Amino acid sequence: MSSRTGFPHRGDRPRPVPERRSAWLEKCELCGTPVASRHGHVVDTGRRGLLCACRACFLLFTESRCGDPRYRAVPERYLWDPDRPVTGIDWAGLGIPASFAFFLRRGAGVAAFHPGPAGPTESLLTLDLWTELSDGHPLLAAAEPEVEAILFHEAECGTDCFLVPIDVCYRLVGAVRRYWTGRDGGPRVREHVGALFEEIRQRAEPLVTGP
Ligand SMILES: [Zn+2]
Ligand SMILES: [Zn+2]
Repeated sequence: MSSRTGFPHRGDRPRPVPERRSAWLEKCELCGTPVASRHGHVVDTGRRGLLCACRACFLLFTESRCGDPRYRAVPERYLWDPDRPVTGIDWAGLGIPASFAFFLRRGAGVAAFHPGPAGPTESLLTLDLWTELSDGHPLLAAAEPEVEAILFHEAECGTDCFLVPIDVCYRLVGAVRRYWTGRDGGPRVREHVGALFEEIRQRAEPLVTGP
């Protein structure tokens, strides 16, 4: 079963970002303190939304602190696994009718989101399928529920798979919603999504697993 979702949330709806904007336009959505244009985010697991956060609020809701469990700071790591890359067959097995999608563990299941002009379509994946794939690809199991996503991208040169902060997925969704034209998205959406994937590729570090 599929449904349209409210992604992205209020703090991160697509909007023009001028090259040189005032550094203090945005506010922490938890305490109201002005924040710089680059800032951390906190997931409100109760409303399933993303909130812009100042550094103090961000740190309050990181795992090491005992803040309200409803709010969880979004980690800032980007990972990929050069030793156990996913293949086009793995990707095809997930049955997603798009060239990229992200997967989020929440509650007892895994939610899959793939993009479209009216926002992402959400579908629920069986945990069995995900667990089976995770057995061969520990990167999938490394994602923190609610705050980190596994992002698949079927590209010309192969299938990419990254572990990313969930706020990156909001940016991806925002770019698709803003630039999509026609039936297949058009060149502008490909350009913006391609640039975001390039940024992710450059930031991603290899997954280190224990002995
Ligand atoms: Zn704050
Ligand atoms: Zn924000």
